[in-house]
Amino acid sequence: MKDFLRPAQKEIRALAPDITGINRRIFEKPELNFNEHFAADHLCAALEAEGFKVRRGTGRLKTAFEAAWHGGRKAPVIAVLAEYDALPNIGHACGHSMIAAAAFGAATAAKRLLGKNCGTLKVIGTPAEEGGGGKLYMVKGGWFKGVDAAIMTHPANHTRTVARMLAVQELEFQYFGKASHAAAHPELGINALDAVIVLFNGVNAMRQQTPNFSRVHGIVSHGGDAPNIIPEYAAAKFFVRGITMKDFRLMMDKVTACARAAAKATGARLKVVKGGLAYEPFEPNRTMGKIHSAHFRRLGLIESGIPENEEIGSSDIGNLSQVVPCLHPEFAVSDPHIVNHSRDFLKAVCSKRGEENMLKAATAMAATVCALMSDPKLIPAVRKEFAESKRRNG
Ligand SMILES: [Zn+2]
Ligand SMILES: [Zn+2]
Repeated sequence: MKDFLRPAQKEIRALAPDITGINRRIFEKPELNFNEHFAADHLCAALEAEGFKVRRGTGRLKTAFEAAWHGGRKAPVIAVLAEYDALPNIGHACGHSMIAAAAFGAATAAKRLLGKNCGTLKVIGTPAEEGGGGKLYMVKGGWFKGVDAAIMTHPANHTRTVARMLAVQELEFQYFGKASHAAAHPELGINALDAVIVLFNGVNAMRQQTPNFSRVHGIVSHGGDAPNIIPEYAAAKFFVRGITMKDFRLMMDKVTACARAAAKATGARLKVVKGGLAYEPFEPNRTMGKIHSAHFRRLGLIESGIPENEEIGSSDIGNLSQVVPCLHPEFAVSDPHIVNHSRDFLKAVCSKRGEENMLKAATAMAATVCALMSDPKLIPAVRKEFAESKRRNG
């Protein structure tokens, strides 16, 4: 396999002012879910100037885009993903400005290195990762059709190439009972709050028999109106999570069964309301991971050794990873005690150390993209692993 790391390093060094400039400019103009107009315009203009052909989204996905570079060959099609949405009140405390900047840098470097000697290289701009689930709608809308592999890179408090993420679905359980005087005629009421309490007890009893790494956590979203009224309406919101689709479906069934049992026990009527679409589990492609890890190591980005199943959340790239082989490495911009979505992490996003590691992450990604484009054995190996993991995890 041809070694692209040193040439990629040279390209990224030349592009460094542009890459850090993109990070700074998007950082200074934080935009929320599906409203990232400045960021999308800015990235599209930079990629267009570099020769990428830009297509913009419409409707809900107005701030989505695709920037494509068509090399001399039909295959493969490799996508570098850019996120650029910020968080409410706290701005770019998840560092998505860096994801966007690194995506621009990696794709530009790879394009300059490969020239016409490649398939199609795309930068796909995916809005609204923080709660909006932009990639869910993009997967449904066919934006990733024909893509052989996708890669992005995310700032974190540690460096790790291969990490999994949990599927998650929000569920609300609404119970409808019957109001009555709580002292004079409690026997005439049906207590909806009791149903919520039985639900929590049922879920807590169930925890011992759940698959490893599954999570279920909830709050009482309505608990009644006054202590002297038997609550006629009560509700609870839960997040249900699993590390594979098989585990996730099992958890959904178990939690819903607890909710039904609580209705039966109390006589309250149950209504189950799903909060939006489910995020599916993220399954990293280890074939891509191995190449990328070697690049991290040679660039002096030392992986933390945190196991792939630990310190994980959920992201909309999960849904993409169920249909396209994906990699979502993390690179350290802060010390381990400073976590994403905090004020200190916000400072790290424009720090000297943060931006140095962002450039290394862009270099590793560029070299990985070049390897995928130029080694004919790689994509079949990536695809084989993808098919096997689909069979195993359901
Ligand atoms: Zn985040
Ligand atoms: Zn994030």
